[in-house]
Amino acid sequence: MTATILNFINGKLVATTSSRTTPVFNPATGEQSGTLSLSSGLDVRAAAEAARKAFPAWANTPPLRRARILNRFLRILEERIDELAAVITAEHGKVLSDAKGEIQRGMEVVEFATAAPELLKGDITENVGTRVDSHSFRQPLGVVAGITPFNFPAMVPMWMFPVALACGNTFILKPSERDPSAALYLAQWLKEAGLPDGVFNVVQGDKEAVDAILTDPDIVAVSFVGSTPIARYIYQTATQLGKRCQALGGAKNHMIVMPDADIDQAVDALMGAAYGSAGERCMAISVAVPVGEQTAERLISKLAPKVRALNIGPGTDPEAEMGPLVTKQHLEKVRGYIDDGVNEGAKLVVDGRDFRRQGYENGYFIGGTLFDQVTTDMKIYREEIFGPVLAVTRASSYDEAATWINDHEYGNGTAIFTRDGDAAREFAHQIQVGMVGINVPIPVPMAFHSFGGWKQSLFGDHHMHGHEGVRFYTKLKAITSRWPTGIRAGAEFVMPTMS
Ligand code: NAD
Repeated sequence: MTATILNFINGKLVATTSSRTTPVFNPATGEQSGTLSLSSGLDVRAAAEAARKAFPAWANTPPLRRARILNRFLRILEERIDELAAVITAEHGKVLSDAKGEIQRGMEVVEFATAAPELLKGDITENVGTRVDSHSFRQPLGVVAGITPFNFPAMVPMWMFPVALACGNTFILKPSERDPSAALYLAQWLKEAGLPDGVFNVVQGDKEAVDAILTDPDIVAVSFVGSTPIARYIYQTATQLGKRCQALGGAKNHMIVMPDADIDQAVDALMGAAYGSAGERCMAISVAVPVGEQTAERLISKLAPKVRALNIGPGTDPEAEMGPLVTKQHLEKVRGYIDDGVNEGAKLVVDGRDFRRQGYENGYFIGGTLFDQVTTDMKIYREEIFGPVLAVTRASSYDEAATWINDHEYGNGTAIFTRDGDAAREFAHQIQVGMVGINVPIPVPMAFHSFGGWKQSLFGDHHMHGHEGVRFYTKLKAITSRWPTGIRAGAEFVMPTMS
């Protein structure tokens, strides 16, 4: 018997009304660690009802008091970071230090959201016309939902709910069914920090729960992070039903290595960016683009031994640099992509398919994999693999490399390694990608900036967290006011011009 993973609605852990379940596994051992109850439409309705009822009081709670609760939540996270990291590693597989890293990045969004009184300050203009004043401010939307992927079970929800709550909304989180437990810790710690019941709810589940969220009349906005086909579906369905939506999708991030780059620095950067978290990051670098044959030769000769030497093991091993993949199905999928690369004629420099870790034979491990001579028509170049597989695509010039990036359907992140300020500036200016690194391989914006890609990596108008997050979770109201002076001018039938 494994523990049943429940919903959290109206301040309590509750069972779902449906009998449908799905197993949750420890990716390092392949053993089942829990049984997840999958919510039905009725469960989503119950969460939406609780959130709707909690909304008026929460929306009317002064932002300063909302911020104080988030401050207490932040302190709890600081104290219990190890406990939450262990929960993430047990279900996701990433190494503990990386699990702590994602919690830290999420906590930074909580820190940002504790500035709610400042963030929600409006604009005022005295005398927009004679004795007429205008002011504008932002108000919360109502009940909002977040649907999140498996790869950051704490950080991605924390991209969303701290800002949503700080702005006065109530929230329903639908975590990934692969690693659903972290969300319940966050829910209980928010309650402990003083968050009123019903303000934050968790519904576990799959497509059935997602579709119930999309069609629920009380849920007015949806934030989504996951793969592109689902992001597109979420955006189309939600917006058709009149909901506000931001849906972040998949990625294929390129890193250009210019001939003048410090090759050792570029190689170290690529190792972390391509193989960290087993490549299961939407900001992972999956394509390295050395410019010029000499750059390519130097890069491959230094990369290959490091990829072979990667220390791969269970996330609980403090020496491990990379853990297993999340599920057996995902392992098969990534192996399949490596087969495809070989069949398409790419040169397999390091093959991770046969990697085994003694004592963890049933874990979902795969070794670091490196392909050279990958061309832009190959499937392993075009599609997101989401595993520790780095493709090297050799470019003859900077222009060719930049054109490939601009022509790719995804536009999440990208980087250039160079010592040439002019090339770097040109790259930042003209590249069609939402997040750009200059000698920084994973340019994830800090909490007080905003995260989001372009093209098929984001559907919607707003990026996440930072000021974009505040805009997404609020609507603007503008007030124009005039106080009678005793003079009656009579009715006016032309457009007021304030002249
Ligand atoms: P996924 O799209 O399979 O799942 C994401 C969420 O959608 C989950 O909560 C899941 O339950 C739900 N879902 C899955 N199938 C559904 C369906 N048919 N109908 C409705 N809902 C459905 O993604 P994943 O495998 O959990 O995560 C990996 C993907 O997320 C990668 O593509 C990665 O690039 C992307 N990602 C993007 C970002 C970003 O910021 N752009 C960040 C993290 C992850």
